[in-house]
Formats: sequence, structure tokens, C-alpha cells
Amino acid sequence: MDYSEVLQQIAHELKPVIGQGKVASYIPELASVSPHQFGMAVVTISGEVHAVGDARTRFSIQSISKLFTLVMTLQLEGERVWSRVGREPSGTPFNSLVQLEAENGKPRNPFINPGALVCTDILCTRYAVPENAVVEFLRPLSGTEIHYNRAVAASERRTSHRNAAMAHLMKSFGNLGNSVEDVLDAYCRHCAIEMNCVELARAVTFLAHGGTHPSGQGEILTTSMAKRLNALMLTCGTYDAAGDFAFRVGLPAKSGVGGGIVAVMPGECGVCVWSPALEPSGNSLAGSLALERFTDITGRSIF
Ligand code: GLN
Repeated sequence: MDYSEVLQQIAHELKPVIGQGKVASYIPELASVSPHQFGMAVVTISGEVHAVGDARTRFSIQSISKLFTLVMTLQLEGERVWSRVGREPSGTPFNSLVQLEAENGKPRNPFINPGALVCTDILCTRYAVPENAVVEFLRPLSGTEIHYNRAVAASERRTSHRNAAMAHLMKSFGNLGNSVEDVLDAYCRHCAIEMNCVELARAVTFLAHGGTHPSGQGEILTTSMAKRLNALMLTCGTYDAAGDFAFRVGLPAKSGVGGGIVAVMPGECGVCVWSPALEPSGNSLAGSLALERFTDITGRSIF
């Protein structure tokens, strides 16, 4: 498969769509990102890199960090994680409070905000500086130096009233061990990590390779856990649009409001697409279409 040619074709076809949708503005620092950017990368498990457009421009990974904090949490706690976080699609927006109250402070899944706050709480218990632990976890996976953007983290922290409400609610149900302030500080820094499409596509190749990173980082998760993580990405990775996304794209994926989406083609490659303007559920509009074209053109998906 000539992935470079596929990516060129997708970038060309999507030109009229890039910029359609809305850049996330509820995090003030993200509101000024130009919507007219598009990048896409494929990193195969044999190490080939294919990239197009702005694939080497770093962006705010936002909720894609939820994937990595879950992996770290599973490494630390194994199956115990599931006593505090569920594994069902939420069918509600990623920052909704309604379900959390009705379900006694146990988030539906780790890919909505309250679920990621619980994972962050677990990291806060285990690490003195959890955001550094996440950044250090990502360096060997991506093969590059990774940092979080302090201005973006501070900007979100100042305005994270809904996340604070969720954290307090979970605390009242006994599902948060650390202080709300500490968990929110770390959570906002995880969301503010900056990576580009090539780095992210490479970072998820272990999920295409039975849990073992193909470029020598060893086992990240057992094969069974990697299978389960892919299943969760398929059912919950794109919020309340996960059903439609699975229907259209047919790959496990995780998105963020920075406009990035990572996807996994098991046995083959990691994929990442970035374009900052979002559809109403908070997924990149052009990014979702690009992944749909990717599986249509290649004829490959998990189905
Ligand atoms: N930092 C964002 C928030 O908590 C992440 C949400 C997202 O990317 N969907 O709202």
C-alpha cells in the first residue's frame, strides 16, 4: 500500500472542507489557533513514516491525553481501574454532569472528562509530579522530546468550572482520593501536551502491534489489554459521535478538542490527523472525513 499517495489524495480531496466547523473556544488559548491547517501521518509497525500537510506542526493533544493516562493507569492498577470507571459509551457530551450524578459518581468510560479525572487521580496518588510522568511516558513512544504548553494549561485551569464540578461530584461519592485542585492541575497539563501527527501516529503503534511498541520500547500493555483498549477507543473514543464514527471509519480512534484524532489499524499502522475546526460533538470535522476516506481508499478497517 502506498500510504504517501493515499495521504496526498486525501489532502487534495479535503481542501474545500478544511476550516469548516468551529475551533474550540471554551479554552481561551485554543480560540486563536488558525482553522486552516491540516496534517495527516501514518507510521507503520515496520517503521515507515508517511506524512502530508501540517503533519509536523505540534498542536494541543487535549483529550487524546486520556488514551495515554488510561494506559499508564492500566499499567499501574490493572483490572482494579474498572471498579472506579466504566466501559460503556456515554451517549452524552464529554463534559456532561447529568449522567455522573445519576450513576453515583462512577464515570461511564475513561475517555470522557470525569473518567480521565479518575485516571489522573490514580496518577496523582502514584507520582509526585504526574504531568512529568506522562511526558516521560510519551518520549520513548513518540521518539521525541515532549512538553506541555504552560499557557494553554493555565488558560484551561482558569476556566475549568465544569471539570471542577465533576471532580467535586466524584469526590462527594468517594471516587476521588486526591484534592480536586491537584487533580485539575495535573489534568489540565495532560490536556496541554503538544505533539504533532507523526509523533502521535508513532506513539500509538503499540496498539496496532498487540501491545508491544514496534521500535524497541518493549511491552506497553499485554495483548489482551491492548485488544480491550482498541475496543474502548472504537466504542467511546469520539464521545457521543462514537457510533457514527465507527460506522463511517471503522477504526479504533481517540480525538481531542485541539482537532487531533489518532486511529489504529491493527497489524498495520498508527494514524493521526489534525485539523482544528470541530463538528458539534468536539471531533475534528476534516479529520473525521479524512479518516473515513482513508479506510475507503485503502479498503482496510477492522471490519
Ligand atoms: N481539556 C478539554 C476539557 O477538559 C479536553 C476535552 C476534549 O478534548 N474533548 O474540556
